[in-house]
Amino acid sequence: MERVYNFSAGPANLPVPVLEKAAKELVNYGEAGMSVMEMSHRSKMYIDIFDQAKNLLIELMNIPDNYKVLFLQGGASTQFAMVPLNLFKNKKADYVNTGEWSKKAIAEAKRYGTINVVASSEDKIFSYIPELDSSTFSSDADYFHITLNNTIYGTRYTELPDTGNIPLVTDMSSNILSEVIDINKFGLIYAGAQKNIGPAGVAVVIIREDLVGSALDITPTMLNYKTHVGNDSMFNTPPTYGIYVAKLVFEWLKDLGGVPAIQKINEHKAGLLYEYLDNSNMFKGTVATKDRSLMNIPFVTGNDELDNQFVKEAEKAGFVNLKGHRSVGGMRASIYNPMPVEGVTKLIEFMKKFEIDNK
Ligand code: PMP
Repeated sequence: MERVYNFSAGPANLPVPVLEKAAKELVNYGEAGMSVMEMSHRSKMYIDIFDQAKNLLIELMNIPDNYKVLFLQGGASTQFAMVPLNLFKNKKADYVNTGEWSKKAIAEAKRYGTINVVASSEDKIFSYIPELDSSTFSSDADYFHITLNNTIYGTRYTELPDTGNIPLVTDMSSNILSEVIDINKFGLIYAGAQKNIGPAGVAVVIIREDLVGSALDITPTMLNYKTHVGNDSMFNTPPTYGIYVAKLVFEWLKDLGGVPAIQKINEHKAGLLYEYLDNSNMFKGTVATKDRSLMNIPFVTGNDELDNQFVKEAEKAGFVNLKGHRSVGGMRASIYNPMPVEGVTKLIEFMKKFEIDNK
């Protein structure tokens, strides 16, 4: 059977050359006589893989020396707790509510302190990024949290809030490595791996040095960034195989020209689909034009039955996982870095044909 075009929001498609390389090295890695999965995380061979993964990420994202890079477990969801546990001093933080993942981050942080929700786009089913008014920001907040790309609703910030000396913290799970960002604007960045980095089971944290080391006393050892910074992510067994696949993805991305190159490709891919949606008589995008995501593109026909028929027929034609999140309905095409341009152009061709056949 041929590979399908997989528009899943995550775990998502991986670059085929990465899968092929992993397959080639699966049973016997280099001269090791064993699989990466079977290696001690303390062995020189594995530490080399780990260091390459970390250094490639530093290079790709242009991460300055005063930031630490961690590969952890527990997904992005564990970061919803780790951030307040580690960054709270006044036990106060500002959050912007732009969707389900923001809400989950807010709910978790509320367990440990006072959360000021400075803005929300819930009034219009999170179809836009709210305007931020700095006069509503708390001057004594320990940090300011945003979800940079909203996987479910398909919105993304194109401008960052100016939080002055208050560290900006962001969930970058669904758009890390998809466009150039200035790390210096952030105190802490976290992301689950299963969209643009590699297989599920790895979470990446990029944290400014000065934010490490003042966790609340109640913080469990494993949830303290200091534990992981002090042991270079090897306090306990890291997700070794996932980090190895991430390394292969980073190599793939570097060969392609790095983040500036993939950003151009991503803008092209998303541009093609948005242009089609803007001109279609059947399909419509659901997001305010200025806030459209490059990674997650929700769309609807306005007719639930027709949506279901489209999803079914698309699947038969080899375009899978296009069903929208239950809170938005309709369809959603997640087109992360590994989705080839051809996947998007063929999807558009299929949509055009569906439009004609179902006039
Ligand atoms: N934040 C965002 C923006 C996400 O898209 C997701 C998962 N889709 C999460 C957090 C949760 O990630 P995890 O499943 O790795 O905990």
